Order: sequence, then structure tokens, then C-alpha cells
Amino acid sequence: MRVSTAFNRILQVPGAWVDSVEFMEAGIVVGLRRRQRQHVCPCGRRSRARYDLSRRRWRHLDMGRCALWLEADIARIDCRRCSRVRTEQVPWARPGARLTRDLEDVIAWLAQRTDKTSICRLLRVSWQTVHRTVTLLVADHLDDNRLDNLYRLGIDEISYKRGHHYLTVIANHDNGRVVGVAKGRNHRVLQGFFDALGPDRCAQVEAISMDLAKVWQAPCAANIPQAAVCFDPFHVIRVRHEVPCLRGRVRDPLVLPRSGGHSDVALVSLTRVSGMVMPRSRRVRLAQEVSDRVPPSCSRSGGRGP
Ligand SMILES: [Zn+2]
Repeated sequence: MRVSTAFNRILQVPGAWVDSVEFMEAGIVVGLRRRQRQHVCPCGRRSRARYDLSRRRWRHLDMGRCALWLEADIARIDCRRCSRVRTEQVPWARPGARLTRDLEDVIAWLAQRTDKTSICRLLRVSWQTVHRTVTLLVADHLDDNRLDNLYRLGIDEISYKRGHHYLTVIANHDNGRVVGVAKGRNHRVLQGFFDALGPDRCAQVEAISMDLAKVWQAPCAANIPQAAVCFDPFHVIRVRHEVPCLRGRVRDPLVLPRSGGHSDVALVSLTRVSGMVMPRSRRVRLAQEVSDRVPPSCSRSGGRGP
């Protein structure tokens, strides 16, 4: 079997055949020959005419200990639809990228699961490459309709750089997907999200879950006053345990149900329930009790912290 045939079967590059294989100091360089003669502009327009031609390399997934490069001719085309000269799009790489789609996809997959340093050491790429790839792929995969049909939202913050910086994360509870992320944890961040949502989509929101941090409550009251605010049971239970003026009460307003029984006994059962599965109706009732009855002097800022 010829070496080009073997690489053809191994790599299965979309839209091209393996034409040559060279073992060089930089790694294995695989020359490609295009299957189609038409050039495709990033806008989608196809044309046989070209403005000029050059040779380009794209970094692919490593083969064993060797770096692997795909090399092919790439044309610039004078696109009538774009009214300017643009570089054509190739099937194995995204427009403007110097990495193949496969390598970019692996970087993006790893970026969701591990730290940047590990990715750099594993794939032998630079920090800048990882950052640029993640930025490109997020922009590429960001769903423009993610802000439509939001009925049940959740908001929380996550810390980075050892707790010195925060990201505010807003999720759609109906499908579990993140719909908004912004730096910082203050009312301006949440207000920015509601501004992007607009008044019509804000009016559709039925409920929002959060911790007991007060910074979220003012923007919610101003933008989604109709939505039920559901506090995280973890923070509600912590208030009960940590606030002295509540701990001393015999008739504890946080304990549900309040009819009969000793408050501590009821609290134990409540804690057990919250640690596993607490019915949503019960969580909403509990949140309402807390917001109505906890004195301002006893309220905690909430948030598990870093
Ligand atoms: Zn075009």
C-alpha cells in the first residue's frame, strides 16, 4: 500500500485527497489535493475564478510523537456578493484558522474539562492558540435564539483567580443551558442581561432562582416583577443554622410545616429533604417565608464563596 493511500484512509480529510507525505523536522507534512475545482467564499458563494493562489499549512492532531500538518493550495477570490477579495473556505478548517477543525474541536472539548496549561502540554500548542480557539468556537456555536422562550432562570456566581474575581452565570432551568455569562457579580451585570433580554422576553419569565445575595434582588424586582423568586435551600438552611437570633427561637418561622411538633425535629426533617429532593412548591414556600420573616439585621449576603 502506498503511503499516501494509508494516510488517506487514516486521516479521511473532508473534501480532499492525500497527494503527498513528507517527514520533515517540523513533523509530518501531508499534501492535499482538492476534490472540487470550485472555490467557496465564506459568504457561501461559489466560483471557479480566482484572484490568486498560495500554499498554506494547517496544524492537525498529532500522530504519535510527530506533529502533523496538512498543506494545500488556497485561493483568494474576488467575491461579487462581498464586493471584495476574500480567502476561500476549505472543508477541513474554519475561515481564517491555522488549525484544522478536528484539532480546534479537541481544544474546545478539553477547555471545558481541564485547565489551559494541561491543554498546552498535552497538545503542544500555546496559551494564545487555546484562547483564540475557544473565542472563535464560542462565537461560532453561540445560539442567537438562546434568549428566546426563557421561563425559569437561575443565577449564581463562580469565582476564579483564587476568589478575587467573579463571573455571573445565568442558566435556563428548562434545558440546563447557560444563556448568559459576564464578569463581576453586581446589579449592573444582571441589568445588562435583562437589557439584552428586552421587555417582551422579560415579561415571559415566571421564576428565577438565586442565593440570598441582595445584589440580584433589585434588578429582578425592576425588570421581572411578575417572576417568583426562589432562594437556594442551601443558603436558607445556612441562615437558620448561623443566625443567632433565629437559632434561639422555639417557634421557628423557617420550619415547615409549622402546625404541631417541635421546631428542631421539623428542622432536621427539612434539612434531610433539602439535601436530597425538595418539592419545588415547598422550596417556593420556604423562600417566601424567609423573604417575609427574616429581619434585615439577620439576613446574610449568601453565596458559597470560592
Ligand atoms: Zn463572498
